Amino acid sequence: MPLAPDVLHELQALFGPDGVLTSAEDLIPYSFDGTAALTRMPGCVVFARSTEDIQAVLRLATRTRTPVVTRGSGTGLSGGSLPVLDCIVLCTVRLGRILELDRANLTMEVEPGVTTIQVAEAAAAAGLFYPPDPGSMKISTIGGNVAENSGGLRGLKYGITRNYVMGLEVVLPDGEILRTGNKCVKDVAGYSLKDLFVGSEGTLGVITKVLLRLIPKPAAKRTMIATFDAMDAAAQTVSDIIAAKIIPCTLEFLDRTTLRCVEDFAKVGLPDCEALLLMETDGHPAQVADEAAQMAEIAKRNGSLGVRIAADEAEANALAAARRSAFSALARVAPTTILEDATVPRSELARMIRFVDGIAKKYQLRIGTFGHMGDGNLHPTFLTDERNHAEMDRVHAAFREIFDEAVRLGGTITGEHGVGVAKKEFLPRFLGDAQMRVMRALRRELDPAGILNPGKMFD
Ligand SMILES: Cc1cc2nc3c(=O)[nH]c(=O)nc-3n(C[C@H](O)[C@H](O)[C@H](O)COP(=O)(O)OP(=O)(O)OC[C@H]3O[C@@H](n4cnc5c(N)ncnc54)[C@H](O)[C@@H]3O)c2cc1C
Repeated sequence: MPLAPDVLHELQALFGPDGVLTSAEDLIPYSFDGTAALTRMPGCVVFARSTEDIQAVLRLATRTRTPVVTRGSGTGLSGGSLPVLDCIVLCTVRLGRILELDRANLTMEVEPGVTTIQVAEAAAAAGLFYPPDPGSMKISTIGGNVAENSGGLRGLKYGITRNYVMGLEVVLPDGEILRTGNKCVKDVAGYSLKDLFVGSEGTLGVITKVLLRLIPKPAAKRTMIATFDAMDAAAQTVSDIIAAKIIPCTLEFLDRTTLRCVEDFAKVGLPDCEALLLMETDGHPAQVADEAAQMAEIAKRNGSLGVRIAADEAEANALAAARRSAFSALARVAPTTILEDATVPRSELARMIRFVDGIAKKYQLRIGTFGHMGDGNLHPTFLTDERNHAEMDRVHAAFREIFDEAVRLGGTITGEHGVGVAKKEFLPRFLGDAQMRVMRALRRELDPAGILNPGKMFD
């Protein structure tokens, strides 16, 4: 059903006639997110500038039973901010202020539209460190990161977004404001509702403020790459590094297909090989030097074809940026790029990578695989064409087998990209009846009219 005219008039009264996008050419950029092959037109787009704006939109939506899809930068990879047909898209990018940096408590309070890189840079300017670094950090918003509980390249040592959220302000679907968490390092009063909203994918409330934990900036960092003629040797290197009680801040891998695309795109002189590891260690300078030497030695012991240690910060940044460009680099070589994030315990990683290779052969598909080797988070990326229906059927069959295998190996259907639309059919089997029932009950309690992001996470 198209957006009702009286809803539109009320929104125009709230935001002004120019503050509500309704023409097809204005709506098209908001009709998709970073997920391939999914588009749907919203009824309108509004840009909130305050918590009060969000309260007003949600009250109106609940009263008129109008679906609302909250949107940050729209970089999500599971269809979380994909519009529901004729919904209101509630965009948070203009809620972009850093409200406070508290050096005594090592916290930063921000509005949801602040980008991840703005948080990281503001922390660094104060000699502090905000570790979560999704590959999209130059554009993704903190609101989106919290709603997806995003991970990143430093997850192995520093954890993920959830580990840095100390408090939230959330507008509930009826317009009430809920504040949860605070600057106390210890606080065990009541249920941890903050954790309920982290990873809730826009289905329980709209996050309007985030209180983030910062940590001291590591004094030194060393970046290196090691190349291998077999993925197993790279995986064994990772296992041996961890067994040597070294927890690097980054342990990323690229397979040959990805490597070639990245080098073609980033031109940083990456060698052609079967598997490449990007390794970073940070901390006290003496510890960093020692760990870097040990990691290089372990790579060589596992038959590495070569280890290259970045000579300076510029080279280190170029190598890390090359890894961050993996998805974009793969996206250049095929009309449709579908990036997955099946995740297994890291002891099963080599087996999982071999399985993905076998699946590529079985279904005659091109798959480039890269990811966070240190934490078992794999990104098999299908290079395909959504107009080729026969091939898309094979892609979906391949997905199913990959998810089944990940779960069989003790892993999960999504390590960081969320459920959204892309994984919702797999969720009940993965979580089981009890978890699904509790999740549905929570959703019904908080959003009885079902206006927030309907059709996401749940069927
Ligand atoms: C090139 C590329 C690399 C990526 N690398 C990574 C990576 O390394 N790790 C990783 O985890 N992800 C990665 N992603 C996925 C994506 O960037 C993250 O999920 C990111 O957190 C989404 O942020 P966003 O601002 O774009 O949110 P959107 O895509 O706009 O929204 C994501 C979800 O959050 C909800 N939402 C947004 N803002 C709010 C709010 N204020 N309140 C409530 N709900 C809200 C939306 O409804 C939606 O369900 C990558 C994506 C791309 C395109």
